[in-house]
Amino acid sequence: MQTKNDALIAYNVLYKKIVSGGFCTLCGACEAACPTGAISVEDEKNRRLHDCSEDLDLCPICYEVCPHSEALQLRTQKFVSDAPVKNEALGYYRKIVLAQATDPELRKLSRGGGVVTSLLTYGVEKKFFDSAIVSKAEPENPAKPKASVATVPDDILSAVGSKFFPSPVAKAYGRAVYGYGKTKIAFVGVPCHVLALRKMEAWRHKIADNLAIIIGLFCFGTFSMEPLLKYLEDNYHVKPSEIKHIRLSSKFIVQTEKDVIRIPISEIEDIIMPSCRTCTDFTSELADISIGSAYPLEEWSTVIIRTKAGADFFYNAVENGVINTWVIEQEPEVYQRVARASIQKRTAAIKEAKKMEEKFGYLPILMLRETDALDHVKVEDIMTTNVKTVSGSVTISQLLDLMAKQHHIGYPVINDNGTPIGFITLEEACQVGQEKRDSTPVSQILRRKPVAVHPGDTALVAFRKMSAFETGRVLVVDPAEPDKILGMITKSDLMHTLIEQD
Ligand SMILES: Cc1cc2nc3c(=O)[nH]c(=O)nc-3n(C[C@H](O)[C@H](O)[C@H](O)COP(=O)(O)OP(=O)(O)OC[C@H]3O[C@@H](n4cnc5c(N)ncnc54)[C@H](O)[C@@H]3O)c2cc1C
Ligand code: SF4
Ligand code: SF4
Ligand code: SF4
Repeated sequence: MQTKNDALIAYNVLYKKIVSGGFCTLCGACEAACPTGAISVEDEKNRRLHDCSEDLDLCPICYEVCPHSEALQLRTQKFVSDAPVKNEALGYYRKIVLAQATDPELRKLSRGGGVVTSLLTYGVEKKFFDSAIVSKAEPENPAKPKASVATVPDDILSAVGSKFFPSPVAKAYGRAVYGYGKTKIAFVGVPCHVLALRKMEAWRHKIADNLAIIIGLFCFGTFSMEPLLKYLEDNYHVKPSEIKHIRLSSKFIVQTEKDVIRIPISEIEDIIMPSCRTCTDFTSELADISIGSAYPLEEWSTVIIRTKAGADFFYNAVENGVINTWVIEQEPEVYQRVARASIQKRTAAIKEAKKMEEKFGYLPILMLRETDALDHVKVEDIMTTNVKTVSGSVTISQLLDLMAKQHHIGYPVINDNGTPIGFITLEEACQVGQEKRDSTPVSQILRRKPVAVHPGDTALVAFRKMSAFETGRVLVVDPAEPDKILGMITKSDLMHTLIEQD
């Protein structure tokens, strides 16, 4: 008698690699996409309701749509990769602006720019979409998000503000399609939620046809609900029902009826969900529009417009007076903070993932690897030729301003003769104290010599040099004149090459 191959039933792999490995962030995409209703994501648990292998011999769906599996990762990049800017820290985009809801009450309620709520309300009122997937606060436990299908502005308003616990928004998306029969849905979520929806689109799952727009939030991580609430009760004597509001700035701020408690993030970082430690995406790089705070500005948000659909909708809302915008280039500190947070998150995640590779035997986030695909491409075909350089004599302050204006995170540094003498990054520049930035020239803190390849080398050679020298970019120089810069290649260029070939 022929026996069934367990590996062909995706749930077995999902359970082994994601759920039992502690990597599930409870988005509910597996439940929404499952054709047999075999999965339930409820109360912070991912359960199997029945054994689908009794009815099926093969089904790849739940594992492939899970944001923490390696499947479809490259393909999802295609939803944004036609954008003109390819930034190592922030991904593909068309434009970055500062924005706020024109309604001051909304800004107060959101404790940020109120941009997400404002856009969703406008979109539903003007029938850009027929519903929005939002995360309201549970009435009996205001810290706990309740993923909901909002169909009218009041529903959207009741979800204003961030909740720092997992919200099964992809499951709610499934409910909007199957339960409510919605066909033009706006989806809001953190980067892993956004990836789950993009995977459904890449998979060509039929529920993805009903997606109108994806608004992604910036995200450093979410906390496991029960352990965090227990920590608050044990250490600060705060019961879940006493929490009025949780907010995040440089500290984790818990507001109760009587008190405001400010907890250093380092004190509770062990309670961040395990997947967040290997998550490389800070700014929801696959969303149509990404939105996060604009610290140190209050009542403003940072908005990254990535796709044409995102741009059309956002500027329609601006033209109709529901959103104010401001140029980010005038606020260099905002750009620096967002770009730095993105780089730091990615660097820490890659380090952690490399440590885990042996244990788990696969690494979804390390999409860029040594591969034959890179050996078939020449450096000269993918390099950026218009390389912006800075002179070693510019000050750190001037450099940081330039980075914010040009949206770069690193430059080759040249001496007076135009010879490359090093490479300077945003991260290194920000390590110079504020008070010394006006008087410190870039040449004084240069640590790295530029790493170079030749135009005729393959992209694989460039990748190997980046790995060997632990850098994200290499210069392309003329083999006959090694001081002559012809171009530059970054890890983003290599990723773009893989995306194009997929
Ligand atoms: C878990 C989490 C971590 C974040 N970390 C950062 C960070 O480190 N840096 C940063 O700049 N920004 C971060 N943000 C984003 C930031 O808090 C704001 O959500 C964002 O700036 C949008 O602000 P707004 O005023 O436009 O949103 P609002 O108009 O207040 O709307 C907020 C929207 O977020 C949705 N939402 C709330 N909680 C969740 C949740 N848990 N899951 C999915 N959707 C949710 C709601 O449905 C609502 O529609 C985080 C958000 C979350 C949810
Ligand atoms: S039927 Fe559902 S649970 Fe089973 S493998 Fe397919 S998607 Fe997963
Ligand atoms: S799809 Fe979402 S809910 Fe399902 S296992 Fe993956 S992270 Fe968890
Ligand atoms: S850090 Fe990444 S994995 Fe964690 S909640 Fe945010 S987007 Fe999801």
